[in-house]
Amino acid sequence: MTDIQIAQKVKAKHIREVAKKLQITEDQLEYYGNEKAKLPLSLIDEEKVDQSNLILVTAITPTPAGEGKTTNVIGLSDGLNLIGEKSVVVIREPSLGPVFGMKGGAAGGGWSQVIPMVDINLHFTGDFHAIAMANNLLAALIDNNLQSKTKNLGIDPRTVIWKRCMDMNDRALRNIVSGLSGKTGGIPRETGFNITAASEIMAILCLCTNLEDLQEMCGNIYIGDTFEGRAVYARELNSSGAIAVLLKDAIKPNLVQTLEGNPAIIHGGPFANIAQGTNSIIATKMGMSLGDYVITEAGFAADLGAEKFLNIKCRKGGLSPKAVVVVATIRALKYHGGKSLDSLTEEDVDALKKGMPNLEKHIESIQSFGLPVVVSVNAFTSDTDAEKEFIYAHCEKLGVAVAISNGWAEGGKGCVELAEKVVLAAESCNAKFTPTYNLEDLPLNKIEKICKTIYGAKGVVLSDKAKNQLRRFEGLGFGNLPICMAKTQKSLSDNEKLLGRPENFEIHIREFEIAAGAGFIIPIAGNMLRMPGLPATPSSEHIKMEADGSIVGLF
Ligand code: ADP
Ligand code: MG
Repeated sequence: MTDIQIAQKVKAKHIREVAKKLQITEDQLEYYGNEKAKLPLSLIDEEKVDQSNLILVTAITPTPAGEGKTTNVIGLSDGLNLIGEKSVVVIREPSLGPVFGMKGGAAGGGWSQVIPMVDINLHFTGDFHAIAMANNLLAALIDNNLQSKTKNLGIDPRTVIWKRCMDMNDRALRNIVSGLSGKTGGIPRETGFNITAASEIMAILCLCTNLEDLQEMCGNIYIGDTFEGRAVYARELNSSGAIAVLLKDAIKPNLVQTLEGNPAIIHGGPFANIAQGTNSIIATKMGMSLGDYVITEAGFAADLGAEKFLNIKCRKGGLSPKAVVVVATIRALKYHGGKSLDSLTEEDVDALKKGMPNLEKHIESIQSFGLPVVVSVNAFTSDTDAEKEFIYAHCEKLGVAVAISNGWAEGGKGCVELAEKVVLAAESCNAKFTPTYNLEDLPLNKIEKICKTIYGAKGVVLSDKAKNQLRRFEGLGFGNLPICMAKTQKSLSDNEKLLGRPENFEIHIREFEIAAGAGFIIPIAGNMLRMPGLPATPSSEHIKMEADGSIVGLF
């Protein structure tokens, strides 16, 4: 069965029944149909947040073989509910771009999914639309100011970094010329579109802690420079109030359910390459206010997702996980061990052994934060007993808890062993995490600490352009911001061909970007796309609607 067939087979509960499990009363729910509801921010209770157990799910370096973080997040939460813990899944909202492109859904897989999966993968509760409008309002205000005779801020149109956005993979919009058609068309300039998930507004929505914070962050967005070289911020266009108003509903987390009828909160979807790649602080705190366990995920592997989750999101939100689950698959580890993609279903304990250093590096990275690790081996039907025994014994030798997880095939029941080990790990954790760097460190030192401690690099090399940009950002007073690394997810290094656990490499920072509103400096190692394109055969070609309105081919 495909994911959509499984999801459509299960009869969803009315969302009020799911809310009841969390002691949310009916008048606190804002219904979006029968299966979705928004939750008011008044449900956040800081005292409960302090008592709840936050569990982060991350993974080894991804390969085309797939890891299954979201599937594990959902399976683990269902597993915890099965063993009597009150657990809530809190994850990101999918972007429409990849839905019609190639990646597939972000609502889990097999018997570990969140529903209504079609809605979640399409327009859901309209949050992405609101974020795009907020983003585009600021863009329109900037262009309006460029041509203003009375309120002109003197912005040099060639320096404007703020782009429009749309939630679609559309490479033709990546770079455009706007403002054509003479005097009535505005000031012509080179600009472009980002995908909505890559908009700084998305990053802000996910890092703000309340409505005041949201408005202040939106005002801090850096948009470009005047002809004299003065930095200009969004607040100078008096835009923050209107932007915040556009986001008044988008800021509220969305409640849905897993296939097993357990609560799931889905909120925000910042890109994991040039942003923090994890759901909102508000949704995480909401989950922690309502449940004893919150299971959440950060995009890509531990070197990117977990590092940013801890050093950026948890630091800002005052959060600290009680345990970190590192998802690995036997197939992907064999790939890291040098086995070719078309032979990964063959048993090969030797290749598995050779691939282990990748897992080991990610375990060490999590341990550098002082947090307990549980390895979850996401079981595929091609895994053999010999391979499972090897990885189990290897983790035990390393002194790390390990469980074979069968959430994809069996749902929560397949994740009971994982759930039990996560509870033990969480109970053993009595300290807050230790960040990789201090905010007061010089930016270059922060970057070096990430590259050395988390990637295993021997050093960092900055291009001349990057050096100049960093000097300028420090001069503008951004030196104390955290770092949001933009690096390939396919390797611990900045060279995607280096699998396993590369050694003796340097990280090359080509340039910097600044997200002054979201509050981080972005060192860019390699090429980062903020507007993806569609593949030669987009998955949209397989999506159809039957005469009765049912949908086929969406994963
Ligand atoms: P991630 O969150 O790490 O990107 P997902 O959980 O979204 O990964 O899974 C990626 C894809 O792999 C999904 O289509 C899912 O159905 C599939 N998948 C995950 N785990 C398994 C498994 N154990 N067996 C088969 N397919 C799986
Ligand atoms: Mg995922």
